[in-house]
Amino acid sequence: MTKSELNKYKSVLQTKQAELVHVLRNRDGIAIEKCPDSLDEVQYATERELAIRSLDRDSVLLRNVRAALDRIEEGSFGVCLHCEEDISPKRLAAVPFTAYCIVCQELADRCLHEGAEDLDELLTPV
Ligand SMILES: [Zn+2]
Repeated sequence: MTKSELNKYKSVLQTKQAELVHVLRNRDGIAIEKCPDSLDEVQYATERELAIRSLDRDSVLLRNVRAALDRIEEGSFGVCLHCEEDISPKRLAAVPFTAYCIVCQELADRCLHEGAEDLDELLTPV
């Protein structure tokens, strides 16, 4: 990967990181601030659940984005953490914070569907 490509991914990732930090900070306590009187109980519980779930998702995303920025600094960005093959530019353009090539990712997704629990564990380089 060329230096200018790396810089491009770096700025995409930094923008994403800033966005997520902003969202996560502002969303802190959103479920609590919402007035429960204006919603029936079931709807309130659902909204809370959704807020918490999307908070979880954004936290994971932020962790992935930070890890990708670390890999840019280390010079290992764009290489699959599992099989050490280059990740396709098309995949990187779509998911710049991905740590795995499409083959390993699909393998992991399939294992997850079959009841395996931890993606990181599944894909830990041997
Ligand atoms: Zn791979």
